[in-house]
Amino acid sequence: MRTGLTPAEAQRWVLDEAPVLAAETVTTPDGRGRVLAEAVVSSRCLPPSDNSAMDGYAVRRADLGQAAAPAALRVAFEVPAGAAVDRALGPGEAARILTGAPLPPGADAVVRQEDTERDGDSVRILVFPSPREHVRDAGEDVDVGDRVLEPGVVLGPAELGLLASLGRSVVAVHQRPRVAILSGGDELVEPDGDVAGGRIVSSNSWSLAAHCRELGAEPLYLGIARDTPADVEAHLAAGRSADVLVSSAGVSVGDHDHVRGALEKLGCELQFWGVKMKPGYPLAFGRFPGRGPLVFGLPGNPVSALVTFEQFVRPVLRKMMGHRSWFRPLVEARVLEDLDKKPGRLHFVRVSLERREGEVVARSTGNQSSGVLRSMTLARGLLVFPADATKLRAGDTATVQVLDPDFFAATHSGV
Ligand code: AMP
Ligand code: MG
Repeated sequence: MRTGLTPAEAQRWVLDEAPVLAAETVTTPDGRGRVLAEAVVSSRCLPPSDNSAMDGYAVRRADLGQAAAPAALRVAFEVPAGAAVDRALGPGEAARILTGAPLPPGADAVVRQEDTERDGDSVRILVFPSPREHVRDAGEDVDVGDRVLEPGVVLGPAELGLLASLGRSVVAVHQRPRVAILSGGDELVEPDGDVAGGRIVSSNSWSLAAHCRELGAEPLYLGIARDTPADVEAHLAAGRSADVLVSSAGVSVGDHDHVRGALEKLGCELQFWGVKMKPGYPLAFGRFPGRGPLVFGLPGNPVSALVTFEQFVRPVLRKMMGHRSWFRPLVEARVLEDLDKKPGRLHFVRVSLERREGEVVARSTGNQSSGVLRSMTLARGLLVFPADATKLRAGDTATVQVLDPDFFAATHSGV
């Protein structure tokens, strides 16, 4: 088993081990937020025929001549939306036409209703259209045989609308990883439990399950294991059918840290332990041979658990789900205060982030102890303080992983 990997080495390692999950077929509306596992090729032409982009009159442009407007045409028939046109436009004729209605044969332009005057069977054309003005061409959106969506695309409102337009009632998407979540420790209780006598709520169970749901993975909560080898083993065994098993706490070197031993006893091959980062050094990674789950033994401290989930589990789950990019958005931010550390480990500094006069500024959320969960609620990003660096001075810039999906949300619309 390797130890003391850098975060970058550990990320490469876990991502190399992670498979992309197979496809499954879901109904198109249920595909929302899922990652497409097929290339979608159109069997339809959209729009299906030349049609009007306006309410107005379909005309033969040549009938209007080269002289200046106006000119009068005879209104021969009407084409409502959804109607089949069974008649061509003859010389000197106009057809009343509504938005989305097919253009009658012979017509090659549409005049907006506002640019006409109707008088009984006759219409005066006040503004002459250019050829094909206000006409939407058949196939201008999608043609038969067009490859319209690529594998790896996330299905959002526009994609679902397009699939619906193509008559696709089902779609192939990547399976959602099932993530077994286990907490361990004699001090832990469920949120409604009794916290007398120094017990604490197992917050990790909740925050890690929330992380999974937010990603579109499926959490399976295995409960709290007591600090005995047998109980840890029994709980871990229950997670063997998942795609990923995430356990928090009990992976350090304390007398009550039974996770590593229990995993090995169950046949899990531990591949590495210990990543040169802070918070989150005591991270264990392994896998069950064959079709068994990837296993992450995260540290127990709530911040360490969340930061290691961010760096290793989240990208793995995104890869499994078929995403093409696995990491959070990065920004270069100007730090607003001095930061110091010892060399050797990369620090992930919880920072608040703000956009100010065209740049992003970052400030530490304060106490960076790995037990201070509130610092994570205040953090909009994790600042990467490189392993070898010891100082960041106010005014320096640094790379920040943006955690808050609303960071780019605005309070005004820009219009
Ligand atoms: P351990 O790895 O068992 O030494 O745990 C490290 C620290 O994390 C201890 O202070 C634990 O109480 C705390 N801890 C462990 N598991 C959880 C959990 N599920 N939720 C919140 N805190 C935890
Ligand atoms: Mg413990």
